[in-house]
Amino acid sequence: MTALSLENVNKSFGTVHVLKDIDLTVEEGEFVVFVGPSGCGKSTLLRVIAGLEDATSGTVRIGGDVVNSVPPAKRGIAMVFQSYALYPHLTVKDNMGLGLRQEGADKSVVEAQVAKASAMLDLDSYLTRRPAELSGGQRQRVAIGRAIVRDPKLFLFDEPLSNLDAALRMNTRVEIANLHRTLSASMIYVTHDQIEAMTLADKIVVLRDGRVEQVGSPMELYNNPANRFVASFLGSPA
Ligand code: ADP
Ligand code: MG
Repeated sequence: MTALSLENVNKSFGTVHVLKDIDLTVEEGEFVVFVGPSGCGKSTLLRVIAGLEDATSGTVRIGGDVVNSVPPAKRGIAMVFQSYALYPHLTVKDNMGLGLRQEGADKSVVEAQVAKASAMLDLDSYLTRRPAELSGGQRQRVAIGRAIVRDPKLFLFDEPLSNLDAALRMNTRVEIANLHRTLSASMIYVTHDQIEAMTLADKIVVLRDGRVEQVGSPMELYNNPANRFVASFLGSPA
């Protein structure tokens, strides 16, 4: 079953053509990593998938349904950002539950979902704290928890670890890999980090100037990069 498909997707901001004829599929349960230089359109592509931006042309399908005019909250997607985007005045528990509450879920459902997510992420003892009382790594776990609480079919991660130091990045990377196994959801993950790409991905999508340059498994791309540009992202020998 295909979780997501993009057919000939284009996105322009005014006269700036950012995404160019993007064709892409993500299978159910697949972990797909986007890599590419700063400004090539990775975040824009995630935002188009999430519905935070409209595609200028082309078709976005989730689980087979065309979702071009479906609002973000109805797409069954959750997004995790580099900047955490937590509410400073709310506790960890309320930050995690807010999205579900706003969708009108029963209090008991929200509590159960928050309890499930906080157990998965080892956040049980932090539920009454506010974001300012947490480390960077803990904040990012809360942001991931907030995504899990909504049971999305598809997770979008936009460079989620780039504000963390090296040791925490490694821990959190392992945690995300475990979550992927546990939740059996599809995930799309944007990173600059070669190790993250090689270790997490079932499939890597290399983007260049708004286009898909090459798609393949980590080993396919590492062993057979289409060109020097792709090789430079995968650390292949020149
Ligand atoms: P990446 O995430 O790969 O670094 P982005 O998707 O953020 O790249 O940006 C791709 C290009 O689109 C950049 O040239 C950026 O300036 C432009 N862009 C992104 N969002 C907007 C916007 N809202 N208005 C105009 N240009 C934008
Ligand atoms: Mg970006």
